[in-house]
Amino acid sequence: MKICRFNDNRIGVVQGDIVRDVSVALTFLPNLVWPVPLGDLLIEHLPGLLPTIQRLAKSAPSLPLSEVVLNSPVANPSKIINAPINYQKHIAETKADQDISHGRDMTKTISDWGLFLKANSSLIGAGDEVVLRYPERRIDHEIELAVIIGKKCHQIARDDALGVVAGYAIGLDITVRGPELQSFRKSADTFAVCGPWIVTADELDDPSDLDFELQVNGELRQSANTAQLIYDVPKLIEYASSMYTLYAGDIIFTGTPEGVGPLQPGDIMDCSFDRIGSMQVQVASSYV
Ligand code: MN
Repeated sequence: MKICRFNDNRIGVVQGDIVRDVSVALTFLPNLVWPVPLGDLLIEHLPGLLPTIQRLAKSAPSLPLSEVVLNSPVANPSKIINAPINYQKHIAETKADQDISHGRDMTKTISDWGLFLKANSSLIGAGDEVVLRYPERRIDHEIELAVIIGKKCHQIARDDALGVVAGYAIGLDITVRGPELQSFRKSADTFAVCGPWIVTADELDDPSDLDFELQVNGELRQSANTAQLIYDVPKLIEYASSMYTLYAGDIIFTGTPEGVGPLQPGDIMDCSFDRIGSMQVQVASSYV
């Protein structure tokens, strides 16, 4: 199933070019009192809710997909985990371009660097705008497979890893190039796009061979396949959960392939992913 959040926290099932509004399913979620537990309540309860959502979708009111504003399908991740340099050709372009690498030691690999986090406050959906800042700095697009964790877990073995996945989405890891730490350069408001919806893991059970691409203003910039990941999805879950407890709704941005490049105000990013779908994301016409 394709589950979306739209129009300020409505929940929908995407069927072709329509959205079935199944928001009434949210009334089955528990009422929480402070302090609320870490993680995303809807994602945590999704397995139990899916039969209800499926039943509701048969007769729920429908809206044209083109007329809804898509929010991030995850409302409250406890963290947004990111893989650095996880495609060989992106490593090659980084080595060749000082404007990307900024003096970092490119003999090091993901096993040397580990993972990094983007601020949760940077998260937006496909219907929101990416807002650039620092007009004098290079700010790049990075399209990535986004993995949505489905339950609280830690120290997950590779063989069990896909069993903790709620689903998949398209991620955009917007990045200011420069010498600062990633957690600073990649965490501006609007710099983590997740969308257009979650494709649940029962519908997409194998993320290891997905073509994807990103165009800017109609020009192809990035085109790759998840088979080219250096640390694949199970390995990333094993690695991340060896350090962090993962919570329902945590998002893993799995790394970007070659073709990263600068964005300008007003640009339009068209992103598409096998088995997930496509989304068009607008860059705001002026800087913050
Ligand atoms: Mn990235």
